[in-house]
Amino acid sequence: MKCPDCATENRASVRFCKKCGKDLTAVPIWFPDLKWHLKTLSIIYLALIALYFSLGTFLKKLPPPYDQRILPAETTPWLYPHKIPQP
Ligand SMILES: [Zn+2]
Repeated sequence: MKCPDCATENRASVRFCKKCGKDLTAVPIWFPDLKWHLKTLSIIYLALIALYFSLGTFLKKLPPPYDQRILPAETTPWLYPHKIPQP
């Protein structure tokens, strides 16, 4: 890569010119600004909120016992070792 200031030939991987020290890194054409961040984050959050409510209504429509959000202790006895069922 040739330096635009002093025309010294530099390796393509270097960041600065070895003779004059000019920054050879490319300036980004576009950089995300605050408006872009707000727009993107609002789209992400609105999608997450919509997914939350649509998943909630979907889970409420499941037939029993899949509609239960709290499982009974006898269904998962390994979660309740202090409640050992008595024969
Ligand atoms: Zn240079």
